[in-house]
Amino acid sequence: MASFYIPLHLSHTVTEIRGKERVTGVVISRVDADFRPVEGSEKLVKCDTLLLSVGLIPENELSKKAGVELSSDTKGPVTTETMESSVPGIFTCGNVSTVFDLVDYVAQTGGTAGACAARYAAGDLPGSRQSVDVVAGENVRLLFPQRYGFQDDLVLFIRAAEPVENPVTVEVTPPGSKLNRPYARPNEMLRVKVPKSKLAEVRQPVRVNIREK
Ligand SMILES: Cc1cc2nc3c(=O)[nH]c(=O)nc-3n(C[C@H](O)[C@H](O)[C@H](O)COP(=O)(O)OP(=O)(O)OC[C@H]3O[C@@H](n4cnc5c(N)ncnc54)[C@H](O)[C@@H]3O)c2cc1C
Repeated sequence: MASFYIPLHLSHTVTEIRGKERVTGVVISRVDADFRPVEGSEKLVKCDTLLLSVGLIPENELSKKAGVELSSDTKGPVTTETMESSVPGIFTCGNVSTVFDLVDYVAQTGGTAGACAARYAAGDLPGSRQSVDVVAGENVRLLFPQRYGFQDDLVLFIRAAEPVENPVTVEVTPPGSKLNRPYARPNEMLRVKVPKSKLAEVRQPVRVNIREK
């Protein structure tokens, strides 16, 4: 199969890279239904460059060992706005929580996790807390954090499901907050903040929608 005269080797993976000073070729192998290379199907493709275009997911080795609940959407731990996981006293941040676009967001979650861990250690974060789920609504593919624990402002990181090139409103309901953004693109996380004061009376799941204005 070829597209724009470029051969496409579907259901294949690179199993060997050849070359000393630079790449001279790659060996590709067919994969089975479980994405395992099929022995004997190797083929050499001569080339001088190998470009890897891959997705990222959170590293969960430690999270799994700690027994924290994982989200099927973000593939990382389920956390509240304080970055606390489902296991009290275990806080997460950065790309362990969810894969962020920008290091600025990573640094922000690191600051929150550190400050809240210190509050927890000092006994300033209540032990047994109520929380409500934060759920993805219209045109939302990914949402972080997934729970609100009534401790701080809710800073949401949102990935749109479909691109909208016109102005959009990010609706957070309840409490019914509406925040405007010039567009929504799946590859650029939206960041919106809902103040703690607006969320105090919320008792049901908080739903987030992205609507074209
Ligand atoms: C190709 C690429 C380009 C990017 N470009 C930009 C950009 O231009 N601007 C921007 O703002 N952001 C960019 N980013 C995003 C940014 O790099 C990440 O969001 C940021 O580095 C994530 O920080 P982190 O500390 O959470 O994770 P990382 O930077 O991945 O750090 C995690 C560290 O933990 C270590 N580690 C893993 N497991 C263990 C373990 N079990 N024990 C001990 N240590 C462990 C790893 O070795 C690593 O050093 C880019 C990302 C990529 C992949």
